[in-house]
Amino acid sequence: MSAYDFDLFVIGGGSAGVRCARIAATHGARVAVAEERFWGGTCVNVGCVPKKIMVNAAEYGLWAEEGKAFGWLEMQAGAHDWQTLKQARDAEVQRLSAIYGRLLANAGVTPFECRASFIDAHTLDVGGRRVTAERIVIAVGGHALKPEIPGAELGMISDDLFTLEELPKRVAVVGGGYIALEFASLLRGLGAEVDLLYRQPLPLRGFDQDMREAMRDALDARGITQHIGHEVTKLEKQEGGICVTTTAGHHVTVDAVMFATGRQPNTRGLNLEAVDILTGRFGAIPVDANQTTRQPHIFALGDVTDQLNLTPVATAQGHALADTLFGNRPRTASLKNVPTAVFTIPPAATVGLTEEEAAAQGPVDIYLTRFTPMRHTISKSPRKTLMKLVVDRATQKVVGAHMLGDDAPEMMQGIAIAIVSGATKQDFDATIGIHPTAAEEFVTLR
Ligand code: NDP
Repeated sequence: MSAYDFDLFVIGGGSAGVRCARIAATHGARVAVAEERFWGGTCVNVGCVPKKIMVNAAEYGLWAEEGKAFGWLEMQAGAHDWQTLKQARDAEVQRLSAIYGRLLANAGVTPFECRASFIDAHTLDVGGRRVTAERIVIAVGGHALKPEIPGAELGMISDDLFTLEELPKRVAVVGGGYIALEFASLLRGLGAEVDLLYRQPLPLRGFDQDMREAMRDALDARGITQHIGHEVTKLEKQEGGICVTTTAGHHVTVDAVMFATGRQPNTRGLNLEAVDILTGRFGAIPVDANQTTRQPHIFALGDVTDQLNLTPVATAQGHALADTLFGNRPRTASLKNVPTAVFTIPPAATVGLTEEEAAAQGPVDIYLTRFTPMRHTISKSPRKTLMKLVVDRATQKVVGAHMLGDDAPEMMQGIAIAIVSGATKQDFDATIGIHPTAAEEFVTLR
């Protein structure tokens, strides 16, 4: 009989924590999870899922506009009803969150709907109760940050967007990363006037330069007003709205401001001092490739480690850890060649190295095409597609793929398999295309 209440205690019921707990329990471990806010965490409740539903909503409006060119003469977007979308979205989020709870229950995991923090190396305070565990996983995720500027309290974060009762007419979105671009794009698609303010010369720092330029142009084409190279210095409430001021002395007056200026791990309040775990940059917990902290029986997964803050990475880490600890199958989740997408309209997707990263390692061959997809030669929508392959000249291996255009995330998943498998440009060339698609361009690039 174990000296501990549980074999594994997971703090945090998001993507990483739920997967780890569920798989560990199916391997026969006695597992508990504490979650104080909502099962499924950020992704299900205030992230990927509700965001994607809103992107879908915005796309329907565009399709209605574009349908006329295909002969649907009566088709028109008309006024969008925010409440219908909100109710459908919230119902879906509740359904999925409940599924997460049920998955845990079905696997025999003991749930605690409260906060947990450390008392000592094997003891936790779980909502006022002392609970012991042989191993502990920290999977508490992160939260959005606002810049420390006067009037910051007047601005929202992405979580707040999901509680709005109506669409603001004029919105300023601050930031040039995933969240800023996705929300700017969906809000514009739903009918808002959108000002996007970012401090770099291009959006999406760290992405491939050609794709960044294509994204800037795509946002322009969608009617989003970009304030490029502007850092916001203050927000002020004024008659007629919120006035946003930037370093260049620029002013924009809007009804709502949303900050998408990065996220930070939720390590405060865990009492990590009690277990001698020191946090790094912005409160992130350092781990090795096995997700182990400096305590060999305490692990950290997902956004709290601030490595690659993506849901599938978090679930892969949770699954690998559970298999390693309780499934007699030691393995780690690779952070190499992780595909990712930005759900703008049109979306962007990428896997592997940018041209700049690859060129820093050695000579590269670049294959790039820009075109108007067949649908939009007729719709006349100003939607352009960019596709790019980065090839290592010495080995002819495709080391990076980048796309901005309709269905880019759907395509990139398959391209990622090829790149993870070490496919060469010759392998791409030897693959027959599916005609007529945009995807076939990936195998006909010359
Ligand atoms: P990012 O780190 O991607 O982007 C943050 C943006 O805010 C950058 O443009 C940054 O500018 C800017 N910024 C930071 N501080 C300030 C400041 N003080 N004033 C003005 N601008 C500032 O963070 P996000 O919040 O967009 O997303 C967080 C993470 O969530 C992402 O990295 C991603 O891993 C994940 N995510 C993934 C999604 C997906 O897979 N589709 C969707 C949403 C989020 P600069 O570049 O100059 O630093």
